[in-house]
Amino acid sequence: MLAEIDVVIIGAGVIGLATACEIAQGKKEVFVFEKNRTFGLETSSRNSEVIHAGIYHPEDSLKAKLCVEGKSLLYQLCDKHNIAYKMSGKIIVAADEDEISWLEKLYQQGRKNGVDDLVLLSRTELKKLEPNIEARAGLLSPSSGILDSYTLLKFLYSQAREKGVEFVFDTEVIGIERVGAKYKVQIKDRDGISAFVAYVVVNCAGLNSDMIAQLAGIDIAKAGYRLHYCKGEYFSLSSKYRNVVNRLIYPVPEQAGHGIHWRRGLDGRVLLGPSAYYVEAIDYVVDETHKQYFYNSAKRFLPFIELEDLAPESAGIRPKLQGPGEGFRDFVITHEEKAGFPGLINLIGIESPGLTAAPAIARYVGRMVAELFD
Ligand SMILES: Cc1cc2nc3c(=O)[nH]c(=O)nc-3n(C[C@H](O)[C@H](O)[C@H](O)COP(=O)(O)OP(=O)(O)OC[C@H]3O[C@@H](n4cnc5c(N)ncnc54)[C@H](O)[C@@H]3O)c2cc1C
Repeated sequence: MLAEIDVVIIGAGVIGLATACEIAQGKKEVFVFEKNRTFGLETSSRNSEVIHAGIYHPEDSLKAKLCVEGKSLLYQLCDKHNIAYKMSGKIIVAADEDEISWLEKLYQQGRKNGVDDLVLLSRTELKKLEPNIEARAGLLSPSSGILDSYTLLKFLYSQAREKGVEFVFDTEVIGIERVGAKYKVQIKDRDGISAFVAYVVVNCAGLNSDMIAQLAGIDIAKAGYRLHYCKGEYFSLSSKYRNVVNRLIYPVPEQAGHGIHWRRGLDGRVLLGPSAYYVEAIDYVVDETHKQYFYNSAKRFLPFIELEDLAPESAGIRPKLQGPGEGFRDFVITHEEKAGFPGLINLIGIESPGLTAAPAIARYVGRMVAELFD
């Protein structure tokens, strides 16, 4: 007889951790399996740590709705549990007429999404707020901010454990097979391969979430679940520029990312990034030859910086559902009952604003799981 558990969550990134906290509230037996030695070693610790306002995505999308809801939940969580953050505000800057028309579109989109504190800035107004930035106009988002993502992850992990969630690290899920009304889940750890039975499987496997869906038997090509990896690198700016900007400074968005932005961290250091380019494999090495590209893009708005002021810092990889040149794709957060897999919940393509949206995503999944146990 194989051991039986109520809910298995695959992946201990911010989404798996937040979901574990949420589901454990219902007194179910919850296990989290993580292939790495501890939580949060992949995308959840390789991002900009920005609390997004919810400006960029279509109003009826999960990305917009869960970002707006997640932002306010996240600020409340940070306040209540002493997780460091700063509601620094963010300005999207425009260099020419074409980009100014983008600011207006973003302003309208933000309002449709329920972000009602946005302010369009003239060049003079922008100069008053950010004297070092050279741009024609700006869009101010006062409720955007930055947080200490490691402390958030650590808090979610501790809270989940307090609620009785079991974490099993260094253990990779390698097989999922539907057996009657349950799933036989195969795992591999340093002692070999073993299996157990779960009533509900929640796939929070980030960059591997398409492969986990495939393991369970979903035709991922047909379902449109195949992921594309889109790398984002960061360069740091010399410490002499610690106070060069007061807020997060973003250009108008590019197709695959939000554009190379200026991020002044909680420690005052300024990072530039992330870039956005598609790759075949996961590797987190920063390619130093990309320095010139970062320099050119930063120099548009801060003309006095020099190439030698930049140093390679870190990289992350976006799990994107859209390939190069393809249009908008929303988060997939689906109970796969209609596909013939009741009890399997897939979260695929949880790229930005996934960190911001995490508490709202957890609630969303929590409701799906609660219905399954009703
Ligand atoms: C460059 C970059 C910048 C970003 N900036 C922001 C930002 O500023 N603000 C924002 O809101 N969002 C941002 N994001 C998005 C955000 O980081 C992600 O949406 C979020 O971290 C996704 O969390 P996750 O838990 O889904 O994935 P992950 O953190 O990748 O966690 C998935 C986990 O699953 C585990 N796993 C995978 N396969 C298996 C298996 N078979 N068995 C067991 N475990 C497995 C992995 O080891 C991993 O730990 C950014 C992303 C990138 C790449």
